Amino acid sequence: MQRACVSLLSGGLDSLLATKLMLEQGIRVHGLYLALSWGCCEKPKAMAAAQQLGVPLMVLGVGDAYLDVIRSPKYGYGTQMNPCVDCRIYMFTLAKRYMEEVGAGFLVTGEVLGQRPMSQRRQPLGVIEQDAGLEGRLLRPLSAQLLEPTLPEQEGIVDRSKLLALSGRSRQAQIALAAEHGLTEYSQPAGGCQLTDETFARKAKDLFAHEARPTTKDMELLTMGRHVRLDDGTKVILGRNALENLRLEGYADDERYTLISPVFPGPAALVIGTVQEQWRDQVVHIILQHVKEEKLPEGALEFRCGRQRWTVERSAWQRASAAPELCQI
Ligand code: SF4
Repeated sequence: MQRACVSLLSGGLDSLLATKLMLEQGIRVHGLYLALSWGCCEKPKAMAAAQQLGVPLMVLGVGDAYLDVIRSPKYGYGTQMNPCVDCRIYMFTLAKRYMEEVGAGFLVTGEVLGQRPMSQRRQPLGVIEQDAGLEGRLLRPLSAQLLEPTLPEQEGIVDRSKLLALSGRSRQAQIALAAEHGLTEYSQPAGGCQLTDETFARKAKDLFAHEARPTTKDMELLTMGRHVRLDDGTKVILGRNALENLRLEGYADDERYTLISPVFPGPAALVIGTVQEQWRDQVVHIILQHVKEEKLPEGALEFRCGRQRWTVERSAWQRASAAPELCQI
């Protein structure tokens, strides 16, 4: 087996330390960051960590195929819509392919036994290793002494006595170790990715219930704005500030169009789904329900959608603001 490994660098403390333990044993490390464009975005931290450790870092985007994992996870969901066990199997399978590509002998992660309830108990750790096709080649240096010896340990490539026996949710030992090694480039521990967040999970469930083949772009859109469903095939996303308005406008294409008023400050609305004339007025109503009356100019209001422009009479928008508000997803 090669004295080289691929180490998954997430930007967090655990993966930083796991990588450091490999470097201390003279093992060549290829850093790998797997990016979910709509999930946890710790890429800058992962890059800073790789730089501090002096290891190369490959960044690979996780594509639309990952969405099948979210739709029907073999091992189920955590507290929200997070399929942590299946997610890790998917990620580690990608990492295995990279490992083969660079000629590394094993994969290293910062997982700690008992740290996360769904994916870091003894049994799921084994399932993940097996289903990712990494039997004996998945080394978790921070908990290694509590786990079965892996092939690199058995073959003497990695000295097991220099690995750790950490377990549980406390990070005190890791923080102390990082300080001891002068390691500073890591993010604060987070609860998980967006899929563990209740609001995001609600929007994701709605997306999967209404879209046969959602894309990573659809998932990115769940991270911004207020979402209002008009019918099974149509949804509106309203920007909550000027930056979101700008970002939503960037998502306009053949299947999504943005509606905005150039004459008063208010939300941009990205309409996703079947473009029907009837929705235009409804979307104007939704926009107006999120604008204070004193911010509106006198007289008719102008709106634009792509190259089209049209006006809405004052009496119409007054009726709109009196109508009951549509429920947000
Ligand atoms: S928290 Fe999110 S990114 Fe992390 S394992 Fe679970 S589903 Fe995957």
